[in-house]
Amino acid sequence: MNSLTILGLETSCDETAAAVVRGFPPGPGAILSNVVFSQTEAHAPYGGVVPEIASRAHLEILDGLIARALKDAAIKLADVDAVAATAGPGLIGGVMVGLTTAKALALSQAKPLIAVNHLAGHALTARLTHGVDFPFLLLLVSGGHCQLLAAAGPEQYRLYGTTMDDAVGEAFDKTAKILGLPYPGGPNVEAHAARGNPRAYSLPRPLLGRAGMDFSFSGLKTAVRQLAAQDEIDVDDACASFQAAAIDILCDRTARALARFRDDFPDAARPTLVVAGGVAANAAIGAALAELAESHGFEIRVPPPRYCTDNAAMIAWAGLERFALGRRDPLEFSPKARWPLDRSDDDGDRGSRQNGA
Ligand code: AMP
Ligand code: MG
Repeated sequence: MNSLTILGLETSCDETAAAVVRGFPPGPGAILSNVVFSQTEAHAPYGGVVPEIASRAHLEILDGLIARALKDAAIKLADVDAVAATAGPGLIGGVMVGLTTAKALALSQAKPLIAVNHLAGHALTARLTHGVDFPFLLLLVSGGHCQLLAAAGPEQYRLYGTTMDDAVGEAFDKTAKILGLPYPGGPNVEAHAARGNPRAYSLPRPLLGRAGMDFSFSGLKTAVRQLAAQDEIDVDDACASFQAAAIDILCDRTARALARFRDDFPDAARPTLVVAGGVAANAAIGAALAELAESHGFEIRVPPPRYCTDNAAMIAWAGLERFALGRRDPLEFSPKARWPLDRSDDDGDRGSRQNGA
């Protein structure tokens, strides 16, 4: 089994990142370098990511980060097997910066280009870090996504449920903004929640107990806004009450997905629930999901926070898995703002759909 060395680039949102990863499926892999520049400060005054600021910042620093990643890994560009970059979904200006840079590097060194779906990066992180076998159930919870997927192979995903409105990380960020806490909201809401009473305020749990595995958070966000309009609310209690509602929603939907996964993959004796995305850094959410997984006979794997939030090691690894399948992508590959994970695997020829939304 030959080990592969891949340079990965990530620029789809507000993290500019470059990393070098070595290994072979199913993992775990070796992360030779992992350089991440978070643009949090640039966006903080606006309380959210501003696309124009993000793409400009990616453009300014990406070259330097790539040089750092190669130096940290103690290798030359000529030594990598391929160059992988996020090709979508994400903020299109940022995706263009990373993908175009990867194309230039690949062309200059006559190396293959691998166009990576950002969501596949999150999905496959648990193989990079823990060597998790297929099939597994993925709960992807980030600032832009809230999805339950069955992963049957590096490019075979079945979407169980997704959010009908806000992503859960977005709900954390908006709650923080409403309550006057600094951006990014997630970690701040969690810190306040730890000191508050989760039963202090009664907040709605949209879709709880309903059929299907979709999510909805906008009603919860609206309720927080109404709560905040009252006099003298306790911020710790508000955060705790919000987080308790978010946990109930995530656990209710995930419980249904665990049952569905059992039906779909009856041969998996002790399957794994993988939790990925920035919100997986939340310890209270992690603890609740661990208990849920255990009660359903599932293992749970939560990659370390630095590989759960946006990073390029996960993109390099997803590129490595795609490369190991024999896939290569053309230099004409178009960046995609939207790119659902469950439609990337059917024919192995994504070129025919590369302009699809
Ligand atoms: P990502 O989109 O994967 O880069 O993750 C960023 C998102 O994760 C943002 O919406 C953050 O607010 C959220 N997040 C990060 N840490 C936490 C936490 N401890 N609790 C809840 N949300 C978090
Ligand atoms: Mg991010």
